[in-house]
Amino acid sequence: IAPPAFLADPAPAAVLATLPGARAVGGAVRDALACRPVADVDVAAPFPPGEIAARLTAAGLRVHETGLSHGTVTAVLHGQPVEVTSLRRDLVTDGRHALVEWTTDWREDAARRDFTINALSLSAEGDLWDYFGGLADLEAGRVRFVGDPATRLVEDHLRALRYFRFQARYGRGEPDPAAVAAVRDAVGHLSRLSVERVWMEIKRLLAAPEPSGAVALMQETGVLPAILGPDSLGAAKHLRALAEIGAPADPMLRFDALLTHGTAEAARRLKASNEEVQRLVARYRAGHDILPIQPEIAAGGPDDDALRRLLADQPAERLLDAAWLRQGVNRAWGWQGPDDAAWERFRARIAAMPVPVFPLQGRDAIALGVKPGPEMGRLLAETRRWWLEGGCTADAEACRSRLAELMRDIHGKM
Ligand code: ATP
Ligand code: MG
Repeated sequence: IAPPAFLADPAPAAVLATLPGARAVGGAVRDALACRPVADVDVAAPFPPGEIAARLTAAGLRVHETGLSHGTVTAVLHGQPVEVTSLRRDLVTDGRHALVEWTTDWREDAARRDFTINALSLSAEGDLWDYFGGLADLEAGRVRFVGDPATRLVEDHLRALRYFRFQARYGRGEPDPAAVAAVRDAVGHLSRLSVERVWMEIKRLLAAPEPSGAVALMQETGVLPAILGPDSLGAAKHLRALAEIGAPADPMLRFDALLTHGTAEAARRLKASNEEVQRLVARYRAGHDILPIQPEIAAGGPDDDALRRLLADQPAERLLDAAWLRQGVNRAWGWQGPDDAAWERFRARIAAMPVPVFPLQGRDAIALGVKPGPEMGRLLAETRRWWLEGGCTADAEACRSRLAELMRDIHGKM
Protein backbone atom coordinates (compact mmCIF):
# COMPACT_ATOMS: atom_id res chain seq x y z
CA ILE A 1 0.00 0.00 0.00
CA ALA A 2 1.03 3.63 -0.41
CA PRO A 3 2.44 4.82 2.94
CA PRO A 4 -0.31 6.83 4.71
CA ALA A 5 0.40 10.51 5.35
CA PHE A 6 0.60 10.18 9.15
CA LEU A 7 3.87 8.21 8.81
CA ALA A 8 5.48 11.46 7.65
CA ASP A 9 4.30 13.49 10.66
CA PRO A 10 7.41 14.53 12.61
CA ALA A 11 6.58 12.78 15.89
CA PRO A 12 5.62 9.31 14.59
CA ALA A 13 8.38 9.50 11.98
CA ALA A 14 11.01 10.27 14.63
CA VAL A 15 9.78 7.49 16.93
CA LEU A 16 9.72 4.90 14.13
CA ALA A 17 13.17 5.97 12.95
CA THR A 18 14.59 5.66 16.47
CA LEU A 19 13.24 2.19 17.28
CA PRO A 20 14.36 -0.50 14.79
CA GLY A 21 11.47 -2.78 13.88
CA ALA A 22 8.80 -0.55 15.45
CA ARG A 23 5.40 -0.24 13.76
CA ALA A 24 2.36 1.98 13.98
CA VAL A 25 -0.55 0.03 15.47
CA GLY A 26 -4.24 0.24 16.36
CA GLY A 27 -6.53 3.13 15.52
CA ALA A 28 -4.13 5.18 13.39
CA VAL A 29 -3.51 2.31 10.96
CA ARG A 30 -7.21 1.42 10.86
CA ASP A 31 -8.33 5.01 10.24
CA ALA A 32 -5.66 5.72 7.62
CA LEU A 33 -6.75 2.60 5.70
CA ALA A 34 -10.38 3.62 6.02
CA CYS A 35 -9.44 7.09 4.66
CA ARG A 36 -10.59 8.72 7.88
CA PRO A 37 -8.80 11.44 9.83
CA VAL A 38 -6.10 9.94 12.05
CA ALA A 39 -6.33 11.16 15.66
CA ASP A 40 -3.40 10.02 17.77
CA VAL A 41 -0.73 7.64 16.60
CA ASP A 42 0.21 4.60 18.68
CA VAL A 43 3.47 2.78 18.06
CA ALA A 44 4.53 -0.68 19.27
CA ALA A 45 8.13 -1.83 19.48
CA PRO A 46 9.85 -5.16 20.18
CA PHE A 47 11.78 -3.92 23.24
CA PRO A 48 11.02 -3.85 26.97
CA PRO A 49 9.60 -0.50 28.19
CA GLY A 50 12.82 0.63 29.89
CA GLU A 51 14.79 0.14 26.70
CA ILE A 52 12.19 2.00 24.64
CA ALA A 53 12.43 4.96 27.01
CA ALA A 54 16.24 4.87 26.97
CA ARG A 55 16.47 4.75 23.15
CA LEU A 56 13.95 7.57 22.68
CA THR A 57 15.69 9.75 25.27
CA ALA A 58 19.09 9.09 23.72
CA ALA A 59 17.67 10.25 20.38
CA GLY A 60 16.74 13.57 22.00
CA LEU A 61 12.99 13.02 22.28
CA ARG A 62 11.06 14.20 25.32
CA VAL A 63 9.71 11.10 27.09
CA HIS A 64 7.01 10.79 29.76
CA GLU A 65 7.17 7.53 31.64
CA THR A 66 3.68 7.78 33.19
CA GLY A 67 2.53 4.39 31.87
CA LEU A 68 5.85 2.62 32.22
CA SER A 69 4.49 -0.13 34.50
CA HIS A 70 1.94 -1.09 31.80
CA GLY A 71 4.66 -1.00 29.18
CA THR A 72 3.79 2.40 27.69
CA VAL A 73 5.79 5.61 27.41
CA THR A 74 4.77 8.80 25.66
CA ALA A 75 7.21 10.54 23.35
CA VAL A 76 6.53 14.16 22.49
CA LEU A 77 7.87 16.10 19.52
CA HIS A 78 6.66 19.59 18.56
CA GLY A 79 3.80 19.13 21.01
CA GLN A 80 2.57 15.98 19.28
CA PRO A 81 2.44 12.96 21.62
CA VAL A 82 3.03 9.41 20.42
CA GLU A 83 2.29 6.50 22.74
CA VAL A 84 4.92 3.80 22.45
CA THR A 85 4.14 0.37 23.86
CA SER A 86 6.22 -2.78 24.23
CA LEU A 87 4.91 -5.81 22.38
CA ARG A 88 3.15 -7.98 24.92
CA ARG A 89 1.40 -11.21 25.51
CA ASP A 90 -1.40 -11.79 28.04
CA LEU A 91 -0.65 -14.31 30.77
CA VAL A 92 -3.79 -14.13 32.93
CA THR A 93 -6.89 -11.98 32.65
CA ASP A 94 -9.84 -11.88 35.05
CA GLY A 95 -12.17 -9.56 33.19
CA ARG A 96 -10.79 -6.43 34.81
CA HIS A 97 -7.01 -6.74 35.09
CA ALA A 98 -4.45 -8.43 32.88
CA LEU A 99 -1.02 -9.77 33.71
CA VAL A 100 1.24 -9.25 30.71
CA GLU A 101 4.69 -10.26 29.57
CA TRP A 102 6.93 -8.52 27.00
CA THR A 103 7.48 -10.34 23.74
CA THR A 104 9.13 -9.80 20.38
CA ASP A 105 6.38 -11.68 18.55
CA TRP A 106 4.15 -9.33 16.57
CA ARG A 107 1.49 -11.94 16.05
CA GLU A 108 1.09 -12.42 19.82
CA ASP A 109 0.72 -8.68 20.27
CA ALA A 110 -1.93 -8.56 17.54
CA ALA A 111 -3.72 -11.58 19.08
CA ARG A 112 -4.37 -9.74 22.35
CA ARG A 113 -6.05 -6.78 20.62
CA ASP A 114 -9.83 -6.73 20.63
CA PHE A 115 -11.03 -6.54 17.02
CA THR A 116 -9.43 -7.55 13.73
CA ILE A 117 -9.64 -3.96 12.46
CA ASN A 118 -7.65 -2.87 15.55
CA ALA A 119 -4.99 -5.56 15.12
CA LEU A 120 -3.29 -4.17 12.00
CA SER A 121 0.28 -2.87 12.11
CA LEU A 122 2.27 -0.77 9.69
CA SER A 123 6.01 -0.19 9.32
CA ALA A 124 7.63 3.17 8.57
CA GLU A 125 8.09 1.96 4.97
CA GLY A 126 4.36 1.33 4.58
CA ASP A 127 4.41 -2.48 4.91
CA LEU A 128 1.13 -3.70 6.38
CA TRP A 129 0.76 -6.74 8.68
CA ASP A 130 -2.71 -8.18 8.88
CA TYR A 131 -2.69 -11.42 10.89
CA PHE A 132 -6.45 -11.77 11.34
CA GLY A 133 -8.09 -10.42 8.19
CA GLY A 134 -8.67 -6.92 9.55
CA LEU A 135 -8.31 -5.18 6.18
CA ALA A 136 -11.03 -7.28 4.55
CA ASP A 137 -13.26 -6.71 7.61
CA LEU A 138 -12.65 -2.97 7.45
CA GLU A 139 -13.59 -2.92 3.77
CA ALA A 140 -16.71 -5.01 4.41
CA GLY A 141 -17.78 -2.96 7.45
CA ARG A 142 -17.45 -6.00 9.74
CA VAL A 143 -16.45 -5.65 13.37
CA ARG A 144 -15.09 -9.05 14.37
CA PHE A 145 -13.33 -10.14 17.54
CA VAL A 146 -9.81 -11.49 17.26
CA GLY A 147 -10.22 -15.14 18.29
CA ASP A 148 -13.22 -16.58 20.10
CA PRO A 149 -15.62 -13.74 21.05
CA ALA A 150 -16.86 -15.37 24.27
CA THR A 151 -13.30 -15.92 25.52
CA ARG A 152 -12.27 -12.38 24.64
CA LEU A 153 -15.28 -11.02 26.55
CA VAL A 154 -14.48 -13.10 29.64
CA GLU A 155 -10.94 -11.65 29.55
CA ASP A 156 -12.29 -8.10 29.48
CA HIS A 157 -15.98 -7.24 29.75
CA LEU A 158 -15.38 -3.68 28.59
CA ARG A 159 -14.93 -5.14 25.11
CA ALA A 160 -18.70 -5.64 24.99
CA LEU A 161 -19.09 -1.85 25.04
CA ARG A 162 -16.08 -1.24 22.79
CA TYR A 163 -17.78 -3.53 20.29
CA PHE A 164 -20.63 -1.04 19.90
CA ARG A 165 -18.26 1.92 19.66
CA PHE A 166 -16.53 0.35 16.67
CA GLN A 167 -19.76 -1.05 15.25
CA ALA A 168 -21.18 2.49 15.30
CA ARG A 169 -18.17 3.88 13.45
CA TYR A 170 -17.22 1.11 11.02
CA GLY A 171 -20.12 -1.36 10.94
CA ARG A 172 -22.13 -1.74 7.73
CA GLY A 173 -24.75 -4.34 6.85
CA GLU A 174 -25.39 -7.35 9.06
CA PRO A 175 -23.31 -7.36 12.23
CA ASP A 176 -21.11 -10.41 12.85
CA PRO A 177 -23.47 -13.06 14.34
CA ALA A 178 -20.75 -14.61 16.53
CA ALA A 179 -19.92 -11.23 18.06
CA VAL A 180 -23.58 -10.38 18.68
CA ALA A 181 -24.30 -13.78 20.30
CA ALA A 182 -21.28 -13.50 22.60
CA VAL A 183 -22.11 -9.93 23.60
CA ARG A 184 -25.66 -11.00 24.39
CA ASP A 185 -24.33 -13.75 26.68
CA ALA A 186 -21.97 -11.30 28.43
CA VAL A 187 -24.73 -8.88 29.51
CA GLY A 188 -24.86 -10.29 33.03
CA HIS A 189 -21.22 -9.30 33.62
CA LEU A 190 -21.56 -5.64 32.67
CA SER A 191 -22.57 -4.60 36.18
CA ARG A 192 -19.03 -5.47 37.29
CA LEU A 193 -17.48 -2.76 35.13
CA SER A 194 -16.51 0.49 36.79
CA VAL A 195 -19.14 3.13 36.05
CA GLU A 196 -16.45 5.62 34.98
CA ARG A 197 -15.34 3.33 32.17
CA VAL A 198 -18.94 2.71 31.12
CA TRP A 199 -19.56 6.46 30.96
CA MET A 200 -16.41 7.02 28.85
CA GLU A 201 -17.43 4.28 26.42
CA ILE A 202 -21.00 5.59 26.10
CA LYS A 203 -19.70 9.05 25.21
CA ARG A 204 -17.26 7.64 22.65
CA LEU A 205 -20.00 5.56 21.10
CA LEU A 206 -22.31 8.58 20.91
CA ALA A 207 -19.61 10.64 19.19
CA ALA A 208 -19.90 8.47 16.05
CA PRO A 209 -21.47 10.18 13.03
CA GLU A 210 -24.69 8.13 13.27
CA PRO A 211 -24.87 5.83 16.30
CA SER A 212 -28.58 4.87 16.12
CA GLY A 213 -27.94 1.49 14.43
CA ALA A 214 -25.39 0.46 17.05
CA VAL A 215 -27.71 1.65 19.82
CA ALA A 216 -30.58 -0.39 18.35
CA LEU A 217 -28.26 -3.41 18.55
CA MET A 218 -27.44 -2.52 22.16
CA GLN A 219 -31.13 -2.56 22.97
CA GLU A 220 -31.73 -5.77 21.10
CA THR A 221 -28.89 -7.59 22.92
CA GLY A 222 -29.96 -6.27 26.33
CA VAL A 223 -26.76 -4.27 26.81
CA LEU A 224 -28.47 -0.89 26.95
CA PRO A 225 -31.10 -1.85 29.56
CA ALA A 226 -28.32 -3.52 31.56
CA ILE A 227 -26.39 -0.27 31.86
CA LEU A 228 -29.22 2.31 31.72
CA GLY A 229 -32.32 0.50 32.95
CA PRO A 230 -35.72 -0.16 31.32
CA ASP A 231 -36.44 3.46 30.36
CA SER A 232 -34.07 3.15 27.41
CA LEU A 233 -36.75 1.57 25.21
CA GLY A 234 -36.99 4.51 22.82
CA ALA A 235 -33.26 5.19 22.60
CA ALA A 236 -32.54 4.11 19.01
CA LYS A 237 -35.79 5.61 17.72
CA HIS A 238 -34.92 8.95 19.32
CA LEU A 239 -31.36 8.94 17.96
CA ARG A 240 -32.59 8.15 14.46
CA ALA A 241 -35.03 11.05 14.63
CA LEU A 242 -32.27 13.39 15.84
CA ALA A 243 -30.16 12.34 12.84
CA GLU A 244 -33.08 12.89 10.46
CA ILE A 245 -33.74 16.42 11.66
CA GLY A 246 -30.04 17.30 11.38
CA ALA A 247 -29.31 17.72 15.11
CA PRO A 248 -25.64 18.28 16.01
CA ALA A 249 -23.50 15.17 16.59
CA ASP A 250 -23.23 16.06 20.26
CA PRO A 251 -22.70 13.08 22.61
CA MET A 252 -24.42 14.81 25.54
CA LEU A 253 -27.50 15.76 23.51
CA ARG A 254 -27.63 12.17 22.29
CA PHE A 255 -27.22 10.77 25.78
CA ASP A 256 -30.19 12.88 26.80
CA ALA A 257 -32.21 11.11 24.09
CA LEU A 258 -31.40 7.60 25.36
CA LEU A 259 -33.88 7.72 28.25
CA THR A 260 -37.44 9.00 28.39
CA HIS A 261 -36.69 10.61 31.75
CA GLY A 262 -34.06 10.72 34.46
CA THR A 263 -31.04 11.28 32.24
CA ALA A 264 -29.36 13.56 34.80
CA GLU A 265 -29.79 10.91 37.50
CA ALA A 266 -28.43 8.23 35.16
CA ALA A 267 -25.39 10.39 34.36
CA ARG A 268 -24.82 11.03 38.06
CA ARG A 269 -24.96 7.30 38.76
CA LEU A 270 -22.32 6.76 36.05
CA LYS A 271 -20.13 9.39 37.76
CA ALA A 272 -20.34 11.89 34.92
CA SER A 273 -18.69 15.22 35.73
CA ASN A 274 -20.68 17.83 37.64
CA GLU A 275 -20.67 20.01 34.56
CA GLU A 276 -22.20 17.21 32.49
CA VAL A 277 -24.87 16.48 35.09
CA GLN A 278 -25.70 20.19 35.40
CA ARG A 279 -26.08 20.44 31.66
CA LEU A 280 -28.67 17.65 31.71
CA VAL A 281 -30.50 19.25 34.64
CA ALA A 282 -30.63 22.59 32.82
CA ARG A 283 -31.82 20.94 29.62
CA TYR A 284 -34.60 19.26 31.58
CA ARG A 285 -35.72 22.63 32.93
CA ALA A 286 -35.60 24.17 29.46
CA GLY A 287 -37.67 21.26 28.20
CA HIS A 288 -40.39 22.17 30.68
CA ASP A 289 -40.48 25.72 29.33
CA ILE A 290 -40.70 24.57 25.73
CA LEU A 291 -43.34 21.87 26.13
CA PRO A 292 -46.32 24.23 26.71
CA ILE A 293 -45.33 26.84 24.09
CA GLN A 294 -45.24 24.46 21.13
CA PRO A 295 -48.41 25.94 19.59
CA GLU A 296 -46.75 29.38 19.71
CA ILE A 297 -43.56 28.01 18.15
CA ALA A 298 -45.67 26.42 15.42
CA ALA A 299 -47.21 29.85 14.72
CA GLY A 300 -43.80 31.57 14.44
CA GLY A 301 -43.70 32.81 18.04
CA PRO A 302 -43.20 33.41 20.84
CA ASP A 303 -42.74 37.19 20.48
CA ASP A 304 -39.39 38.83 21.25
CA ASP A 305 -40.33 39.81 24.80
CA ALA A 306 -41.35 36.27 25.69
CA LEU A 307 -38.22 34.86 24.04
CA ARG A 308 -36.04 37.26 26.07
CA ARG A 309 -37.81 36.09 29.22
CA LEU A 310 -36.90 32.50 28.37
CA LEU A 311 -33.29 33.48 27.70
CA ALA A 312 -33.00 35.49 30.92
CA ASP A 313 -33.70 32.35 32.92
CA GLN A 314 -31.39 29.82 31.25
CA PRO A 315 -28.50 29.50 28.84
CA ALA A 316 -29.41 29.66 25.15
CA GLU A 317 -27.50 26.38 24.56
CA ARG A 318 -29.86 24.48 26.86
CA LEU A 319 -32.93 25.91 25.14
CA LEU A 320 -31.43 24.80 21.83
CA ASP A 321 -30.80 21.29 23.26
CA ALA A 322 -34.36 21.16 24.51
CA ALA A 323 -35.73 22.28 21.12
CA TRP A 324 -33.74 19.62 19.23
CA LEU A 325 -34.85 16.97 21.68
CA ARG A 326 -38.52 17.94 21.60
CA GLN A 327 -38.54 18.07 17.81
CA GLY A 328 -36.79 14.67 17.65
CA VAL A 329 -39.03 12.96 20.20
CA ASN A 330 -42.19 14.32 18.52
CA ARG A 331 -40.95 12.95 15.23
CA ALA A 332 -39.93 9.59 16.70
CA TRP A 333 -43.41 8.91 18.08
CA GLY A 334 -45.46 10.79 15.50
CA TRP A 335 -46.63 13.35 18.07
CA GLN A 336 -48.23 16.64 17.05
CA GLY A 337 -45.96 19.66 17.18
CA PRO A 338 -44.41 22.51 15.21
CA ASP A 339 -43.14 21.48 11.78
CA ASP A 340 -39.41 21.32 10.99
CA ALA A 341 -39.33 24.84 9.50
CA ALA A 342 -40.94 26.32 12.63
CA TRP A 343 -38.38 24.61 14.89
CA GLU A 344 -35.60 25.83 12.62
CA ARG A 345 -36.89 29.40 12.83
CA PHE A 346 -37.28 29.15 16.62
CA ARG A 347 -33.67 28.02 17.01
CA ALA A 348 -32.38 30.69 14.63
CA ARG A 349 -34.14 33.37 16.68
CA ILE A 350 -32.66 32.01 19.92
CA ALA A 351 -29.18 31.99 18.41
CA ALA A 352 -29.55 35.56 17.13
CA MET A 353 -31.05 37.04 20.31
CA PRO A 354 -28.58 38.89 22.55
CA VAL A 355 -28.59 37.33 26.01
CA PRO A 356 -30.51 39.67 28.32
CA VAL A 357 -28.62 40.56 31.51
CA PHE A 358 -30.45 42.15 34.43
CA PRO A 359 -28.75 45.57 34.66
CA LEU A 360 -28.76 46.09 38.46
CA GLN A 361 -26.44 44.70 41.12
CA GLY A 362 -26.24 45.02 44.89
CA ARG A 363 -24.14 48.15 44.69
CA ASP A 364 -26.84 49.94 42.64
CA ALA A 365 -29.33 49.25 45.43
CA ILE A 366 -26.84 50.47 48.06
CA ALA A 367 -26.29 53.67 46.06
CA LEU A 368 -30.05 54.22 46.31
CA GLY A 369 -29.84 53.95 50.09
CA VAL A 370 -30.91 50.31 50.59
CA LYS A 371 -29.12 48.53 53.44
CA PRO A 372 -27.45 45.24 52.49
CA GLY A 373 -29.49 42.31 53.81
CA PRO A 374 -32.70 40.41 53.15
CA GLU A 375 -34.65 43.53 52.19
CA MET A 376 -32.12 44.37 49.50
CA GLY A 377 -32.43 40.84 48.10
CA ARG A 378 -36.21 41.14 48.02
CA LEU A 379 -36.13 44.55 46.32
CA LEU A 380 -33.70 43.38 43.65
CA ALA A 381 -35.72 40.20 43.04
CA GLU A 382 -38.92 42.22 42.78
CA THR A 383 -37.30 44.66 40.34
CA ARG A 384 -35.96 41.76 38.29
CA ARG A 385 -39.45 40.24 38.11
CA TRP A 386 -40.76 43.57 36.76
CA TRP A 387 -37.86 43.72 34.27
CA LEU A 388 -38.66 40.14 33.09
CA GLU A 389 -42.37 40.86 32.71
CA GLY A 390 -41.50 43.83 30.53
CA GLY A 391 -39.52 41.51 28.18
CA CYS A 392 -36.11 42.46 29.65
CA THR A 393 -36.12 45.76 27.79
CA ALA A 394 -35.85 48.21 30.75
CA ASP A 395 -32.33 49.67 31.03
CA ALA A 396 -30.35 50.35 34.23
CA GLU A 397 -31.85 53.81 34.67
CA ALA A 398 -35.42 52.55 34.36
CA CYS A 399 -34.68 49.65 36.75
CA ARG A 400 -33.19 52.09 39.30
CA SER A 401 -36.34 54.21 39.23
CA ARG A 402 -38.49 51.11 39.61
CA LEU A 403 -36.43 50.00 42.60
CA ALA A 404 -36.71 53.46 44.18
CA GLU A 405 -40.46 53.33 43.62
CA LEU A 406 -40.72 49.94 45.33
CA MET A 407 -38.68 51.31 48.23
CA ARG A 408 -41.02 54.28 48.64
CA ASP A 409 -43.99 51.87 48.59
CA ILE A 410 -42.51 49.78 51.40
CA HIS A 411 -41.50 52.71 53.55
CA GLY A 412 -44.75 54.54 52.82
CA LYS A 413 -46.65 51.60 54.30
CA MET A 414 -44.49 51.60 57.43
P1 ATP B 1 -10.08 5.58 18.92
O1 ATP B 1 -9.94 6.22 17.60
O2 ATP B 1 -11.51 5.49 19.37
O3 ATP B 1 -9.14 6.07 19.99
P2 ATP B 1 -8.41 3.24 19.06
O4 ATP B 1 -8.35 2.01 18.21
O5 ATP B 1 -7.21 4.11 19.10
O6 ATP B 1 -9.71 4.04 18.63
P3 ATP B 1 -8.08 2.91 21.86
O7 ATP B 1 -9.10 2.63 22.92
O8 ATP B 1 -7.35 4.20 21.90
O9 ATP B 1 -8.82 2.71 20.48
O10 ATP B 1 -7.07 1.69 21.92
C1 ATP B 1 -5.92 1.61 21.07
C2 ATP B 1 -5.69 0.16 20.62
O11 ATP B 1 -5.39 -0.67 21.75
C3 ATP B 1 -6.89 -0.49 19.95
O12 ATP B 1 -6.91 -0.24 18.57
C4 ATP B 1 -6.69 -1.95 20.27
O13 ATP B 1 -5.79 -2.54 19.38
C5 ATP B 1 -6.04 -1.94 21.64
N1 ATP B 1 -7.01 -2.04 22.74
C6 ATP B 1 -7.50 -1.02 23.48
N2 ATP B 1 -8.35 -1.45 24.43
C7 ATP B 1 -8.39 -2.80 24.31
C8 ATP B 1 -9.07 -3.84 25.01
N3 ATP B 1 -9.90 -3.56 26.01
N4 ATP B 1 -8.85 -5.11 24.61
C9 ATP B 1 -8.01 -5.40 23.60
N5 ATP B 1 -7.34 -4.48 22.91
C10 ATP B 1 -7.52 -3.19 23.24
MG1 MG C 1 -6.95 5.81 20.51
